Amino acid sequence: MTVSWDGAELPLPQLQPFMKSTDRPMRERAFRAVSDRYIVERRPLTSLFDRMYALRQEVARNAGFTDYQGFAFRAKNRFDYGPDDCARFHGAVEATVVPAVGRILERRKAMLGVDTLRPWDLGVDPQQRPPVRPFASAQELAAKAGRVFDDVDDELGRQFRVMIDEQLLDLDSRTGKAPGGYCDTLHHRGRPFIFMNAAGVMDDVRTLLHEAGHSFHAFASHELPLVWQRYPGAEIAELASMSMELLAAPKLALEEGFLTEAERRDAWVEALEDILLTLVHVASVDAFQSWIYTSGEGGDEVARDNAWLEIRTRFEPVVDWTGLEQERISRWHRQIHIFLYPFYYIEYGIAQLGALQVWRNSRHDWAGALEQYRRALTLGSTTSLPEMYRTAGANLVFDANQMGSLVRLVEDELDSLRQAG
Ligand SMILES: [Zn+2]
Repeated sequence: MTVSWDGAELPLPQLQPFMKSTDRPMRERAFRAVSDRYIVERRPLTSLFDRMYALRQEVARNAGFTDYQGFAFRAKNRFDYGPDDCARFHGAVEATVVPAVGRILERRKAMLGVDTLRPWDLGVDPQQRPPVRPFASAQELAAKAGRVFDDVDDELGRQFRVMIDEQLLDLDSRTGKAPGGYCDTLHHRGRPFIFMNAAGVMDDVRTLLHEAGHSFHAFASHELPLVWQRYPGAEIAELASMSMELLAAPKLALEEGFLTEAERRDAWVEALEDILLTLVHVASVDAFQSWIYTSGEGGDEVARDNAWLEIRTRFEPVVDWTGLEQERISRWHRQIHIFLYPFYYIEYGIAQLGALQVWRNSRHDWAGALEQYRRALTLGSTTSLPEMYRTAGANLVFDANQMGSLVRLVEDELDSLRQAG
């Protein structure tokens, strides 16, 4: 899908920079251009989903399940948590994360000096500063990241050096290259590689830290003899990658590093706020999918859209969507997981809460936390999910108690960063 934008046909991701513009009417125009593109496609997307819904429910019934939710949990080998735990997760997010997100958004509203926070006000830097330029070339990105990992842990630094030396990093964006970023494993060689499209912005640094976490997982689990022992589920794979984002964060202002100390603090504020905003989004997408397949009304397009609006209202405080009902509905049409990878999303929430625990451990005992993190990565998929998390020094968190203490930790850190800034 493309949109006409100032005389050019642009793919939707290329409107992202305009969503971050300090010019509010420009942001609104970009937001509406993307939403309208999906609203125009409402009929085909809805029909497509209706067919998928009916087929999925039939597949589930044929396999002896009452609905597709039960089938999907079994098909994903979710032995250690079920739909009830996910429902508890949604409730815990609502009780602990939503109020914190409300405080972040109220603060954003005040900083932007607007009467109401509209959906196009969420991407702009509330201090309206120019974006930082943490590196200028792919080579510089790799070299600076190498210094960060050396400082995180000697062995991880060595592994990243191997990736540089053996040309296992394809980092820069260039014409004809596919979009996206990921880490994959060359099992015969016993090496991971990283593919991404760096353009010189802070998001690229975060992407590389994240994918490097997956790479360290690949290095560690390669020691296992059988390929199938090395395929961890997403819940632990994303713990490896998300933890690395958090563990590396204090190292971004090293000498000749990515950022100045003030830039590092700002980037850390943004990353921590983003964690809380992502958790409410994850909960709403997961709650919506559960509703679709278990309410009995998931095949009714009007009921479905209304359920989405209700769930979003539950999880998205402060933002004013008045007069933007169709735009708000179109948000679920943009969520590709709901179409292509049903029930694949809660993993990111579980892993993010695990990563926060690894980070919490590192603040009291750096060496111990790294030791636990690295030991968990060596397990591959040879033991249960709770055991892998325990080894990493974390729990699977579905309850408001543990989630609330992690949210408080993030908010305390945000407070002290703001005082320092
Ligand atoms: Zn990942």
